[in-house]
Amino acid sequence: MKKYEFWFLVGSQDLYGPEVLKIVATRAEEMAEELSKVLPYPLVYKVTADTNAQITEVIKEANYDDNCAGIVTWCHTFSPSKMWINGLTQLQKPYLHFATQYNREIPNEEIDMDFMNLNQAAHGDREHGFIGTRLRLNRKVIAGYWKNEDVQKRIGTWMRTAVGVAFSRSLKVMRFGDNMREVAVTEGDKVEAQIKFGWQVNTWAVGDLVKVMNAVTEEEIDELMATYESQYDINTDNIAAIRYQAKEEIAIKKMLDENGCRAFANTFQDLYGMEQLPGLASQHLMSQGYGFGAEGDWKVSAMTAIMKAMGEGGNGASAFMEDYTYHLVDDEKLSLGAHMLEVCPSIAADKPRIETHHLGIGMNEKDPARLVFSGKEGNAIVVSLIDMGGRMRLICQDIVAVKPIMEMPNLPVARVMWRGLPNLETGVECWIHAGGAHHTVLSFDVTAEMMHDWANMMDIEFVHIGEGTTTEAFERELFLNDIAWKLR
Ligand code: MN
Repeated sequence: MKKYEFWFLVGSQDLYGPEVLKIVATRAEEMAEELSKVLPYPLVYKVTADTNAQITEVIKEANYDDNCAGIVTWCHTFSPSKMWINGLTQLQKPYLHFATQYNREIPNEEIDMDFMNLNQAAHGDREHGFIGTRLRLNRKVIAGYWKNEDVQKRIGTWMRTAVGVAFSRSLKVMRFGDNMREVAVTEGDKVEAQIKFGWQVNTWAVGDLVKVMNAVTEEEIDELMATYESQYDINTDNIAAIRYQAKEEIAIKKMLDENGCRAFANTFQDLYGMEQLPGLASQHLMSQGYGFGAEGDWKVSAMTAIMKAMGEGGNGASAFMEDYTYHLVDDEKLSLGAHMLEVCPSIAADKPRIETHHLGIGMNEKDPARLVFSGKEGNAIVVSLIDMGGRMRLICQDIVAVKPIMEMPNLPVARVMWRGLPNLETGVECWIHAGGAHHTVLSFDVTAEMMHDWANMMDIEFVHIGEGTTTEAFERELFLNDIAWKLR
């Protein structure tokens, strides 16, 4: 991950005289320093701006600087916001308006007109807010005291979302083979995706991968086998199958790294020259932060990589997932998610086991090795990006992952069980109305608010299924969204 940082731009004007501006600058610097100690990325104080030229200049620099992942603005004093128009209309980075003030309390004895002139964020932030709205800028507004822990957490979360934008803008996705034949939802407009998200989605021949695989040495495989042994329990005698997966992983990683790709997709329908569908190989690559999509699903692959990058430490607990089957017993309605092999072990509750089993689907000549585990418990989301034709829609549902209520000893794959909100039936009805895919990214680390913000930063449609959702209201939202997005 790049060394991302965020720029703190403070608005003011020259009517207060140099003394006041000096105080504002000193305090802003102190705030940036203190906040940087608790935020996931540094907040760098840049300017207390009192002219149009200063603001325009610093925003142009922010656009140009690859390390700058977004700007945070605040007005300690009043900052006439016509001064911001020329800068903000050129802004190409995520934008947070932080509505805070330096002092926590109104000081009863001390307060007079001088105090009021210096400490008028309530006043200044409204003028600043107007121009963002007038310019129809997608931005986040966070209000609250800057030393408050919840407020700091919200800024940190927004920062991680903005890093998801920077990551997206330079993301390359490697495709091996095309999409699974006849499947609709995994298709999409790659040109539109590059315009909206920056993704460079291109294809490489499976034969090229096989060539790289054939050049992998036994020593390289030994080294990766040692990693597998340290991280996973080996629950099979078929060591050759594991070594074959290691060879696949090494070759895929080489091709991804050589081409600057952080995500890939493949399909069981195109494995020419390969003995096994990459299972363990794809799973272990995902655990290292690479995105993956099965059946040629490049959209979910890209989203997996982005949501991992948005997580804690730049590689959070987010996994490629697929809705498989339901448990429709009253008072115990659950969904079971899995994939034929490829679920990321970052969401495992227990130490994953490497196993080999027969896989009937696809061109497998031999039984592929894969990681088998149960997913952990906790609040999570599932996310699907679909192409509506002319625009992209991001669908997010809140779920509660549970400890699987049965052992399922004959299920040879990683599995996650969850309760969808607001309940299974309404969740499914809304998901289907929204056109959500069977492939999703399941995340314990990224929240619905983050995905909402990410969609805003990307300027795409976002719909959210959660506790308060009803099918009727949701259908109406989709109907109105459809009209609104056609008008844009
Ligand atoms: Mn699938």
